[in-house]
Amino acid sequence: MAEVASTILVIDDSVDIHRLLKIRLRDQNVAISSSSSGQDGIERARELLPDLILLDIDMPGMSGFEVLAELKHDPLTVEIPVIFLSGSGGSTNKVKGFDLGAVDFVTKPFDIAELRARVRSALRTRKLVKMLAQRAQVDGLTGLWNRTHLDEQLVCQVSQARRHDTPLALIMSDVDKFKNLNDTHGHPFGDQVLQEVANILVEETRDSDISCRYGGEEFAVILPMTSLADAVTVAERCRQTLEAYVWASHDDLCVTASFGVTDLGTAEEPTAASVIKSADAALYAAKHGGRNRVVRADEEHSTRGDCSSSGGGGAASESPAQPHHGSSSAA
Ligand code: GH3
Ligand code: MG
Ligand code: MG
Repeated sequence: MAEVASTILVIDDSVDIHRLLKIRLRDQNVAISSSSSGQDGIERARELLPDLILLDIDMPGMSGFEVLAELKHDPLTVEIPVIFLSGSGGSTNKVKGFDLGAVDFVTKPFDIAELRARVRSALRTRKLVKMLAQRAQVDGLTGLWNRTHLDEQLVCQVSQARRHDTPLALIMSDVDKFKNLNDTHGHPFGDQVLQEVANILVEETRDSDISCRYGGEEFAVILPMTSLADAVTVAERCRQTLEAYVWASHDDLCVTASFGVTDLGTAEEPTAASVIKSADAALYAAKHGGRNRVVRADEEHSTRGDCSSSGGGGAASESPAQPHHGSSSAA
């Protein structure tokens, strides 16, 4: 399979530079986008999230230094490596650029072989950093993203959804009476249950949704471009699939989970923290309402299942759940 092209954004006020770079980097397996001003470049960087930015220092209006400072200030763009394109090789500019977070400098007029080597080197480092960061954000037991990734992604997704005025939903889920299940059937079986719950979450959601193990037996799914009602449907489908799942060598066992669903518009404030708080409150309401059910954050209304057999048996449990992650009130 051919390697996916890396994306490079060139921000430079000179049309000639754009033309030259497109020609000179043509055979480097890169897709090049162009922007001719600092302000526009920042917007394009936020939209495209390129693998590398080539940034001119001297531009009318906003200078390259100002552009870089703004890119490094935004969590969406902070990780994108930036190579400065500079008319002078003076060390003052270089020191300033490196201090602001540039990864490299290329002096105009370009030595093409050097430019290409520097671009390849920056892309290689970017790829490694991405790979390491990704590994650090994968949960070892289930293969889902972990909480660090969820927290990071939610901030990005909230920011994107606000910028483009698009919907964004979040499902939080917690396996019912999981402690009983561990105690009765053993920890290894508990682990197997967590793996299967993870499989169900992945299978019942879209590729563009982000499924995470939030901690212990708690899971979260970020659903970009999804309304609250649609996310409730997804959660309900997950709930039913888990409830109906037949466990090898435990075929009388019914494992259930509770779900809290919210969206950006329902959360008190349009922030990642507030979205989590809202989903968590709905999840708490689902636990408090008897478990094995989906509660949407904007209503008390819940869909509930009736898991008739014993085991994880959320629907059969009586005791009220403890609040999750510090939220103390129901949705
Ligand atoms: P509730 O219905 O209110 O959610 O009850 P619960 O028993 O599921 O909740 P509680 O928070 O009391 O217990 C969660 C249990 O999950 C306790 C902990 O030992 C277990 N657990 C956490 N991580 C893992 C894991 O990686 N593997 C296994 N097997 N168990 C885990
Ligand atoms: Mg829990
Ligand atoms: Mg639980």
